[in-house]
Amino acid sequence: MVYQIVNPYTNQVEKVYDNHTDDDVEKTLAKAHDLYQQWRKDTILKRVDILKQVSQVLTDHVDEIATAITKDMGKRFVEAKGEVLTSADIANYYAEHAYEFTGTKTFDSRMGKAQLVPRPIGIIMAVEPWNFPIYQLMRVFAPNYLLGNPMVYKHASNTPGSAVIFEEMLKKAGVEEGACTNLFVSYEQVNQIIADPRVQGVALTGSERAGSEIAAEAGKNLKRSSLELGGSDPFIVLDDANLDEIQKIIGAARLFNAGQVCTSSKRFIVTEKNYQGILDMLTEAFANVKIGDPFDDSTTLAPLSSYKAKKNLVKQVEKAIENGATLAYGDMASNQGEDSFFRPVILTNITQDNPAYYEEFFGPVGQVYQVKDEQAAIDLANDSVYGLSGVLFTGSVEKGEALAKQIETGSVHVNSYGGTLAELPFGGVKRSGYGRELGSLGMETFMHQELIVSR
Ligand code: NDP
Repeated sequence: MVYQIVNPYTNQVEKVYDNHTDDDVEKTLAKAHDLYQQWRKDTILKRVDILKQVSQVLTDHVDEIATAITKDMGKRFVEAKGEVLTSADIANYYAEHAYEFTGTKTFDSRMGKAQLVPRPIGIIMAVEPWNFPIYQLMRVFAPNYLLGNPMVYKHASNTPGSAVIFEEMLKKAGVEEGACTNLFVSYEQVNQIIADPRVQGVALTGSERAGSEIAAEAGKNLKRSSLELGGSDPFIVLDDANLDEIQKIIGAARLFNAGQVCTSSKRFIVTEKNYQGILDMLTEAFANVKIGDPFDDSTTLAPLSSYKAKKNLVKQVEKAIENGATLAYGDMASNQGEDSFFRPVILTNITQDNPAYYEEFFGPVGQVYQVKDEQAAIDLANDSVYGLSGVLFTGSVEKGEALAKQIETGSVHVNSYGGTLAELPFGGVKRSGYGRELGSLGMETFMHQELIVSR
C-alpha cells in the first residue's frame, strides 16, 4: 500500500508518505480509547464549541485545503473550495443541533419512568474514498465527535494530502489529540483495527468490492457498520417536465466532479415526447465542456482522479459498445491518450443483456433511455442493483412525490438536481449500502440509546 500524491493533471508523483507501523496503530488506539473513557463521563459542552471552531478553521483555510484536494485527485479548484465550505457547514450543523440530537427522551412505562439516553459506543474506524476527500471524512467525524466516539481513518491511497491536512485543521481548531487520527495503513492493518475490542464501528464509503470486504470483517467481529457504495442514479423526465429548468442543471447533474459522484445522474430515463430534446440538451452540455488545468477558472471539466481510473472507464465504455450500445455522442479515439482526461460520451440503445445496463459509470458517461410512459420510467429506474438517489422532473409536484415513493432508492429529488446538505440524511438501499450519514439520522448510526427505567 503506497500513499502518494500523483497529480492527475500532470500524472507526476508529487509526494510519497511513510506508512504507519503496528506500533503507531496501537498508540493511536490507546489514546483514542482513553479519550472515549473520559468523554463518556463528560458533558458535550466543550466539544460543541470545538466543532464550531472546526467550521471556522475550515472556512478560514479554504484555499489551502482546496489546493490539497485538487493536487490529490484533480477536481476543479472551485469545486474543491465548495467541498471545504460544505464540510465547514456540516461541522457547524452538528454543533447547532447538538442538544437536540443528544437529548434524553423520557416516557412512562408500566415499570416506571423510562429514559432513552444517547451514548457513544467507542472508537469508529472510517475507510474513505478519494472523490470528496474532506467532505467524506467530515460526514463521519462531526456527529461522532459530538457524541463522544473517537475516530481513526484510513483514507484512499491517492488522497494522502487531504488526509493529512484534515488532521492538521482539526488540531488548529482545538480538537483533542486522539479524537480523530489519520492512519496510513494496509488493508491487513484495517482488519486488525476492526477486530480490536476498543473499536466498535466501521464506516466505509467506496466500491461494492471494498464494502463487502469491510462488512465481512465487521460481521465476523460483531461490529456495527455503515456502507455508502455506488449508484447508477436515474434522472427521470416525464412528458409534463419543465425543460427550461432541466437545461440549467443537466450538465452539472452528470459532470460535477468530473462525473465521479455516487449520487450523480447516470441514467437519463425520458418519456417519448421529450426524448430527443433531452438527448440534444445533454449533447450540448457535453460538447461545451472545456477541459484543462483544474486550477484554471475557465476549465469546466477536470481530469479523472487517476490515469488508471480513466483507462478503466475507457474499457467499460468500449465493452458497452461491443455489447450493442450506440455511441450517440463523443469520440472514443480522443480518450486513448496518456492523460487522465475522459472526454464525455453518451450511450443509447443499452439493452438488458448489455453488462452496461447494470453497471455504474464513474465519470463523464451519460446513458439515455427512451420509455413509453411514467410506469415504464419507474420500472426502468428500479431495474438496477443500486438504489442511492434519483431525480424526477414533472409538472406536478404531487405526482412527483407519489412516483418518488415507487422508486427503490435512498432519496429522490423532485424537480431539482439535489446535491448534498448537512441536514439531509445520505445513504442507500440494495447494493448502494446501508446506514445513513448526515442529518439527524447520521447522528444515530454509531449511537447507543441506553434505557434507564426507574421508580
Ligand atoms: P475503493 O472502494 O477501492 O476505495 C475506497 C476506500 O476503501 C479507499 O480508502 C481504499 O483504500 C479502501 N479499501 C478498498 N478495499 C479495502 C479493503 N479490503 N480493506 C480496507 N480498505 C479498503 O474504490 P476505488 O478507489 O478503487 O474506486 C473504484 C470504484 O468504486 C469507482 O469507480 C466507483 O464505482 C466506486 N466508488 C464509489 C464511491 C462513492 O462515493 N460511493 C467513491 C469512490 C469509489 P485504497 O485507496 O488504499 O485502495
